[in-house]
Amino acid sequence: MDLTLSPAEEAFRDELRSWLENNHPGHEPTGDEPGFQFRRDWQRKLQEAGWAGVSWPEDYGGRGATLIEQAIFNEEVVRARTPTPANVLGLAMGGPTVIAHGTEEQKRRYLAPILSAEEIWCQGFSEPESGSDLASVKTRAVRHGNEWVVTGQKVWTTLAHHAKWCMLVARTDAEAPKHKGLTYFLLDMEQDAVQVRPLVQITGEAEFNELFMEEARIPQENIVGGEGNGWAVAITTLMHERATLAFGLQVSLQIELGKLLEYAGQTRGGDGHVTSADPVIRQRLAQLMIESEVLRLNAYRSLSATMRSGVPGPEGSLGKWHWSEVNQALTELAMDISGPRALSANHDWAYRFLRARANSIEGGTTEILKNIVAERVLGLPRMR
Ligand SMILES: Cc1cc2nc3c(=O)[nH]c(=O)nc-3n(C[C@H](O)[C@H](O)[C@H](O)COP(=O)(O)OP(=O)(O)OC[C@H]3O[C@@H](n4cnc5c(N)ncnc54)[C@H](O)[C@@H]3O)c2cc1C
Repeated sequence: MDLTLSPAEEAFRDELRSWLENNHPGHEPTGDEPGFQFRRDWQRKLQEAGWAGVSWPEDYGGRGATLIEQAIFNEEVVRARTPTPANVLGLAMGGPTVIAHGTEEQKRRYLAPILSAEEIWCQGFSEPESGSDLASVKTRAVRHGNEWVVTGQKVWTTLAHHAKWCMLVARTDAEAPKHKGLTYFLLDMEQDAVQVRPLVQITGEAEFNELFMEEARIPQENIVGGEGNGWAVAITTLMHERATLAFGLQVSLQIELGKLLEYAGQTRGGDGHVTSADPVIRQRLAQLMIESEVLRLNAYRSLSATMRSGVPGPEGSLGKWHWSEVNQALTELAMDISGPRALSANHDWAYRFLRARANSIEGGTTEILKNIVAERVLGLPRMR
């Protein structure tokens, strides 16, 4: 693909850059509630200025921008180090899934409050016995007249404690082959039959939760993409998750690498020399730079594939897999450079190192992504 920006794209980038400079909200406060409210306010500000849902159709509150402009947006917000918008799952996955599979009524109902962060979304796919093998979910939905009654458990549900809507995959036909008996629902989280319990991670934060549903109710009109079609709709959500993640994350990786280079140049090792003078550390830094450039170019390559087909394809899995490996290697090197300093509480690199452990699990494990790349990108024989 041609990486040179057209005059219109440059104008888009310059307008955005100056808007971000003038509207940067400053540092996020600590603590889950204040931090979340801060990100909610920031998203509202983006939306009011027309910078939320950049590539969504204008009819539904988006900017109707091209995918290149969306990519410019992703790069610029990371470069400006603005906060992550609060409704990250709604913006990256829920909205695009409703745009692709929803009815006109659903688009009118759900898209605007995603953009304004009025209604937060979460993703209820994984279960205690069903993660990688999503098609084996056991949560059951049974039809009673014009509504569905749902019983089951989800786990690792990011943002469920803030969410109004959950993208829920449930089994609606126990007799059908496992991929065919699934339906994709939008579950209203604000009902007593839905209980959310936080799970504390290795970082000490509780980003995600267990989700218990005991005869929760979902009206018939909250099915997305038709009864029994949940597998195809869920795949759309996952493709958006991996492709969108991969694109934004490769930019933040470059920023982190810049910080690590600075850190290595300032930090002294046991021999009294700055660590960046150590030949092994230098080699590891150089390797990270090479890998991050490969990631950047591959991100653009999958963007051009998406522009041709209109939807993100399986090659997004490669970006997510590669990013998780490079990010983990980067944070491991940061720990080696830190030495005993890494043991002190509130050490920034120690936090990143611990958080990076989840990178090769969240959004699909590396093993699963390798299978997808092998079968669907390289065309190798299917495993089973
Ligand atoms: C930070 C974080 C946030 C998350 N947020 C959400 C969320 O919001 N919503 C949600 O639904 N889920 C979420 N998840 C869950 C995540 O999607 C699952 O953890 C992931 O899909 C793996 O499922 P599992 O944990 O059940 O592991 P399993 O599927 O049990 O896998 C265990 C191990 O076996 C390997 N394995 C499994 N099958 C194969 C195979 N066919 N070939 C080769 N190896 C295989 C896996 O790679 C892994 O190493 C989150 C996870 C994390 C870490």
